[in-house]
Amino acid sequence: MVGFSFSSSQGNAGDALKPKAPLVLVLLGPPGSGKGTQAQLIKDKYHLTHISTGDLLREHIRQGSKLGKQAKSYMDQGKLVPDELIFEILFERVSKDDCGAGYILDGFPRTLAQAETLQTKLKGISPIVINLTLSDKEVIQRLSGRVTCEKCGSPYQLISSPPKKAGVCDRCEGNLIHRSDDTEAVISQRLKVYHDQTKPLIAFYDKLHTLHSVSCSQPKDKVFAEVVTTINTERKNGTSQ
Ligand SMILES: [Zn+2]
Repeated sequence: MVGFSFSSSQGNAGDALKPKAPLVLVLLGPPGSGKGTQAQLIKDKYHLTHISTGDLLREHIRQGSKLGKQAKSYMDQGKLVPDELIFEILFERVSKDDCGAGYILDGFPRTLAQAETLQTKLKGISPIVINLTLSDKEVIQRLSGRVTCEKCGSPYQLISSPPKKAGVCDRCEGNLIHRSDDTEAVISQRLKVYHDQTKPLIAFYDKLHTLHSVSCSQPKDKVFAEVVTTINTERKNGTSQ
């Protein structure tokens, strides 16, 4: 009997030492906000896995997995891949060992319905939502100032990282060209789509008090410092519950 009660109290001690809940991070941000850069920095600091549902879907289709075949059959008919299938692919991925510390969702959820389902499926783990903000004017300035080398593909930004000689690549002296999708009209259209899609998500997460806005109109290390403070504060609050 003594042994029994001893082992059960040991079990309790073990529970107390359980690792914290995994960190689930949702990143929102318009094109040009530097979302990819921040995702990389966060991933390295917190040992998270960066997950793009679009990439996952393409990978499943490429490998011809069961889920991939199902997804492809919808796409071949010109239909959207249903949320249920996307969630199946997502949760299969995040159940792997490399997601033990947590993961970053980039570009997902995209709709209010997906955000609601995600909230249910996470069963008590509250995602931390970081909303990277940048005014439309700045997005247009940043993206329309982007040029790439015709020969080697090196990227430049005419305001923040211009080439030494106008129109010429520093590395290979190739011609610098403007991508056709970096014109103001195209960027404005992309921004409109982004705002229409994101507004309901922002309202949803704001209501749950899990939304944290960080201005990207500052150098990327300052943006990252704010992101880190946000994550650390949220983690502290989250574990005290
Ligand atoms: Zn070049």
